[in-house]
Amino acid sequence: MKSILLRRQFLEFFESKSHTIVDSAPIVLKEDPTLMFTNAGMNQFKPYFLGNSEPSSKRVTNSQKCLRVSGKHNDLEEVGKDTYHHTMFEMVGNWSFGDYFKKEAIEWAWEFLTEVLKIDKKNLYVTIFEGDEADELQKDTEAYEFWKALVDEDKILLGNKKDNFWEMGDQGPCGPASEIHVDIRSDKEKAETLGKNLVNQDHPQVVEIWNLVFIQYNRKANGSLEMLPSKHIDTGMGFERLCMVMQDKTSNYDTDVFTPIIKEIESVTNKFYGESEEIDIAIRVIADHVRAVAFAIADGQLPSNTGAGYVIRRILRRAIRYGFTFLNAKTAFIYQLVDVLSKQMGEAFPEIQSQAELCKNVIREEEKSFLKTLEQGLGLLDNLMKESASKTISGEKAFELYDTFGFPIDLTSLILSEKGYKLDFEAFQKELAKQKKRSKDAAQTSSEDWVELLQENSSEFIGYDQTEAKVKLVKYRKV
Ligand code: ATP
Ligand code: MG
Ligand code: MG
Ligand code: MG
Repeated sequence: MKSILLRRQFLEFFESKSHTIVDSAPIVLKEDPTLMFTNAGMNQFKPYFLGNSEPSSKRVTNSQKCLRVSGKHNDLEEVGKDTYHHTMFEMVGNWSFGDYFKKEAIEWAWEFLTEVLKIDKKNLYVTIFEGDEADELQKDTEAYEFWKALVDEDKILLGNKKDNFWEMGDQGPCGPASEIHVDIRSDKEKAETLGKNLVNQDHPQVVEIWNLVFIQYNRKANGSLEMLPSKHIDTGMGFERLCMVMQDKTSNYDTDVFTPIIKEIESVTNKFYGESEEIDIAIRVIADHVRAVAFAIADGQLPSNTGAGYVIRRILRRAIRYGFTFLNAKTAFIYQLVDVLSKQMGEAFPEIQSQAELCKNVIREEEKSFLKTLEQGLGLLDNLMKESASKTISGEKAFELYDTFGFPIDLTSLILSEKGYKLDFEAFQKELAKQKKRSKDAAQTSSEDWVELLQENSSEFIGYDQTEAKVKLVKYRKV
């Protein structure tokens, strides 16, 4: 089943259960000082869970663009190396704000997977919260009973606080969770590990697909818990993982979410997916990262040197560097993938279509300037390695690369570790702190890089001022 249909089917299923389909929130959440990027479907609904505002509908469903590259959820290092964690991914979910609770959430999730999508029950596992004595939390026997009516008991596993208890923060709404995992290994492989639990063990074909959170408590400032007067449901399913299951693949990258992008990478670089592990990782990194960067730009977050913009710049640079090193891509090419992406995702997310030209321009300029930096920096780093008898690069030298040549420190440490060298990271941080103090003293203000695409309907975004090497300014036209 094509991803486009699958997404629709999910939303329509919950619509048939009286849910209102709502838009994805932007990938960059400006209103939330605790969060740089949207990392879960529930982010935009936080005020409802906190009781700070009233939802217009008590049941909603959507597909939310998420980015997990910072803070509590940072999957960046996994991306490309494994086949099921992305930086940007879609989380499809359903919510109840003080309306239905565990029974319906569990039954509908099961109905959707096993009756609508007809996923074989024997390949599904569910987990429930086992309780936590130290925190005086009970085992979630309610969820257990609801699952027992649907699933064989040997497929219901107990999970600890880390995997099966969700909290928004030190205080506030929280509650136990039930996860649904899928085992898509061959029968032969399954037989070989009979009786062994592979759920939550980082096996690429035994993966979590859906998390159902039952928000039933409020944690008070003193750490104690009280029952919430009205309870909520917050669920999230990894859309690309669901596509993998439904398209009979063993990797998210083999689904139609990624294959058109991968084909384009192959045709531009003349390197092929499946050629070698190094090339495969590089292709996965680029296919993944272009989505993160393009969606962030389309939502108004430009690459820059500060805050969220810097995170986006680093993601793009990671992709450029993988292309440079492993695909021999010495000229800008990632920007060309935006057209494929916008064709692929434009129906569900029109912003990627309407902002495609902007995304391409920004990405191309970033690529060009970073490729220059890379050539220079890699040469310098090579020399440093040759000169170092102790196989350790000093923090001062790494800082010089960073400061003068714009060579990112994570890149420096990645290259060094690949070549068996060490980096004096502490010394680097000292240098960084000194520089920060210098700039603070000079009262240098960091330029604001957030771009309001729609500024309270008062102005309309009309594009960028392009200078030779850099995108500099954003213009608004008052309307
Ligand atoms: P995992 O244990 O696989 O890292 P998680 O427990 O961190 O997942 P949740 O926070 O429960 O994930 O998010 C809900 C769902 O979103 C998961 O069940 C999974 O299907 C999907 N998901 C989470 N992280 C990613 C990611 N980095 N890329 C793609 N899908 C993801
Ligand atoms: Mg995770
Ligand atoms: Mg998990
Ligand atoms: Mg989870």
